[in-house]
Amino acid sequence: MLGQMMTQPLLISSLIDHAERYHGQTEIYSVETDGSVTETNWAQVAQNARKLASALSKLGLGPQDRIGTLAWNNRRHLEIYYATSGAGYVCHTVNPRLFPEQLTYIINHAKDRVLFFDATFIPLVAALHEHLSEVSHFVLMGPRNEDAIAQIPGVEFYDELIETGDDDFRWPSFDENTASSLCYTSGTTGNPKGVLYSHRSTVLHSFGSNTRDVIGFSAMDVVMPVVPMFHVNAWGSPYACAMSGSRMVLPGPGLHGEALVKLVDAYGVTLAMGVPTIWQGLLAHAEKSGSKLASLNRTVIGGAACPPSMIETFREAYGVDTVHAWGMSEMSPLGTTNNPLAKHFELPLEEQHKLRESQGRPPYGVELKIVDDDGKDLPHDGVTQGDLLVRGHWVLDSYFQMQDEDLLQDGWFATGDVATLDPDGYMTIRDRSKDIIKSGGEWISSVELENIAVAHPQLATAAVVGVPHPKWDERPLLVAVKAEGSDPTEEELLAFFDGKIAKWQVPDKVVFVDALPLNATGKVLKRNLRADFEDALTG
Ligand code: ADP
Repeated sequence: MLGQMMTQPLLISSLIDHAERYHGQTEIYSVETDGSVTETNWAQVAQNARKLASALSKLGLGPQDRIGTLAWNNRRHLEIYYATSGAGYVCHTVNPRLFPEQLTYIINHAKDRVLFFDATFIPLVAALHEHLSEVSHFVLMGPRNEDAIAQIPGVEFYDELIETGDDDFRWPSFDENTASSLCYTSGTTGNPKGVLYSHRSTVLHSFGSNTRDVIGFSAMDVVMPVVPMFHVNAWGSPYACAMSGSRMVLPGPGLHGEALVKLVDAYGVTLAMGVPTIWQGLLAHAEKSGSKLASLNRTVIGGAACPPSMIETFREAYGVDTVHAWGMSEMSPLGTTNNPLAKHFELPLEEQHKLRESQGRPPYGVELKIVDDDGKDLPHDGVTQGDLLVRGHWVLDSYFQMQDEDLLQDGWFATGDVATLDPDGYMTIRDRSKDIIKSGGEWISSVELENIAVAHPQLATAAVVGVPHPKWDERPLLVAVKAEGSDPTEEELLAFFDGKIAKWQVPDKVVFVDALPLNATGKVLKRNLRADFEDALTG
């Protein structure tokens, strides 16, 4: 016997319909590529999205054709998100920070038919455009622009294209398992691979992220996703915020500390999200400028391990609660978030704070387990570490247009991370499996060493990598960037580890560099460091 309840497909268009109907006047502030700020709202975004969808449907595209974007977090990008998926196309967000060859590969592999791009990327598109054989419409996200006309043959303009759409366009209905958006992993672990999200997975992910113990966006929030819309859909916030009717601040291209502090203060941002490197800049500027970040209540920090010292600074200096989050492109991305359990409030404050440092626990919809090298389940005792496997409603099943029968292990996806799990499900990432340092048969977590190092007041940032060692196979090397105006010595830095970690885990050596090599999503490229300093302990 079937239940006798309505069945409606879980479509992305239903999110923007809801935002328009119940939160239509709720403001969205968008920083444009020229630095100016446009104020719009959910009703206008919804109307423009429908009109753009109508305009796109007149271009002769087929169902689920891919539509690429090279764009910052701004209101046109938001409209494209809804227009493309809502009309049954696939919104393919492309990371403009990738190398030109990678961009060409990704856009061609996805067979993007239309490419929307911000004015910042006119020179980039001008250089790439003859290699992008499948793209038949290059659309600059803005009004007519002579610069673009001079550089890109046949270029079209968003503000003109949208005018060709009909005002009375209605969203089509289709199977909720239809593909909705596409995002390639940044390639930290090899060639870029496409993750193809569905309407269903996206809506369920939004429900999941809107539960209180995950992020819980609210109509009371002013949300600033600093994480780019080209990086795992800004962690799903454009969808989840439509569902919750939050105000949004879309920060555009300027992601340095000064710009972000100004936006927080000008628009009363209550909740901001991004990777740790972004917040280093914001905290440094807040301190310099004297801003108290008064409106900010919460930051969601993930994408790389958030150092405990950063959580502490937010808490002690600004009264901001940090929710440490872990996830990956393959998980839409939310896997775990660190919020407390009721029983934790009975603990001494210091212990409560300590518990907030891990990557947190999974919400309903995600399951985690750890296994050994033979794939055997390991205990969730908070100590045993193993390869982290996941499954759930918004976890990928296979990569876009790739045959790999062995991708899943009995229905579980191997994350490539090494972690511990405690009996309450709190997960601590020890490392990426390829970054963990194998010293004489023992494993050393580079993340743990980095967390200690970055708390040193004379360092701006630091990374730890394993480098070859004649006796121990590998030993940790600390690669450090000095803070402005500071000049710490190797001895001082190594002494800083005393008492914080077992002696045999302390790095063997320190090398100073001017800056760490970062990948396109702001993560440290450890393989470059390993190659650069291969001979540090043997040479
Ligand atoms: P890529 O593989 O291209 O870097 P993602 O951006 O999807 O793609 O990165 C996912 C990976 O980032 C995770 O597998 C994990 O190694 C790392 N990561 C994400 N969040 C955290 C976190 N809070 N702590 C430690 N590592 C994290």
